[in-house]
Amino acid sequence: MFNEETCERCGTCLSRCPFLQLPLEKAKEEISRMIETRTSEEILRNCAGCSYCNTICPTRSEPAGLRKEIRLKKNREEGVGSLLLITEEVPLNLMSIGFELEIEKKRENLKKYMNPPKSKEMFYIGCSLSYIYTDLVKTKLLEDLPLLGGMKYCCGGYVNSLFGQEEAKIKGKKLLKEFNKLGVEKIISFCPGCDRITRGLYPEIIEDYNIESQSIIEYLVEKYHRGELEFTNKIDKRITFHDPCPWRSLDRKIYESPRELLEIMGAEVVEMSHNREKSLCCGAPVSFRNRALAEKIANMRVSEAEEVGAEALAFICTGCVFALSKSAVEKNIEAYYITELAQKAIGEKPPHRIVEVTNQAMELMARKIVENTSLLKDKYIIKNGVVQKL
Ligand code: SF4
Ligand code: SF4
Repeated sequence: MFNEETCERCGTCLSRCPFLQLPLEKAKEEISRMIETRTSEEILRNCAGCSYCNTICPTRSEPAGLRKEIRLKKNREEGVGSLLLITEEVPLNLMSIGFELEIEKKRENLKKYMNPPKSKEMFYIGCSLSYIYTDLVKTKLLEDLPLLGGMKYCCGGYVNSLFGQEEAKIKGKKLLKEFNKLGVEKIISFCPGCDRITRGLYPEIIEDYNIESQSIIEYLVEKYHRGELEFTNKIDKRITFHDPCPWRSLDRKIYESPRELLEIMGAEVVEMSHNREKSLCCGAPVSFRNRALAEKIANMRVSEAEEVGAEALAFICTGCVFALSKSAVEKNIEAYYITELAQKAIGEKPPHRIVEVTNQAMELMARKIVENTSLLKDKYIIKNGVVQKL
């Protein structure tokens, strides 16, 4: 939460924000205005909500909390388009649209993810691996436990970022009930957005929330150290890992796991100049609001990978793949979801369609927006756990 008392109105947050880059004097004026009025056109248009500014604020006043307050106020008053609402209660959203690509192949698997057998531990695959990047979960690496996915089991990250913690708490309690019905005590997650919510937020705001959460990367590293996983094929590449923004809210030690996994698999790990909690955002959150800015940010980020001579970028967030893969390909840098590299290292040949699927999904979404004017016009809010059309 933003601390107005400690903020010195120095403007550092807005002048060094990679998205806003305001001249220092303008940044000082803007932060003062934001504090006094709780509004800001700059923020509403261009802020990605990445929380990078929290890491550079000299007084640790958490300026990202102020931008969140401003964004939430607008969303509650004016609503948001259905694209961002990951729920079956709206006609079309990012997941249901992405699902339409090769839908027949995906339908049966989705049923399984939504009706898994009871188990204390489950792979919690998240929405994008349930509906869009479905190739990524077809691997021997995931044979030990049931896979849990689909919108019914969405972590509620979108509720938290669009409508705030009180609504997220309602969503989290519903999710906890579903976990309890399935006998789940521990989830192994694939999405850093799920990590932020199930590991960072729910244990803080839901009293009886008792579900342990681990990232798939940490799971693979642990399994390797227990001698239960062997990487027989060396990943002989110079690779840099793009740290996802949501991890900023977690214990810093999570940042070491992808580096360790890549090294165990034989890769040479190189670091971009912004890394770990000071990593730069991929630009995905502004891609629907300001395409040109999103592309500029993506280029900035991929240029950092180019500067350190990376042959490949490794990701754990499909949103980041969505935002950065085009720019990476243009710079001859390969883009991998990190588990694809683990698949290669155990001798599998993953289809590696992540860039192809990203391009298809982007085209389909652009077409849907043109075909369905209601996608941008219709606005929704979530109040007391209920989705309402305005
Ligand atoms: S939030 Fe931090 S960086 Fe931003 S104006 Fe206040 S003190 Fe400066
Ligand atoms: S949250 Fe990210 S985009 Fe928004 S002001 Fe802070 S650094 Fe800039």
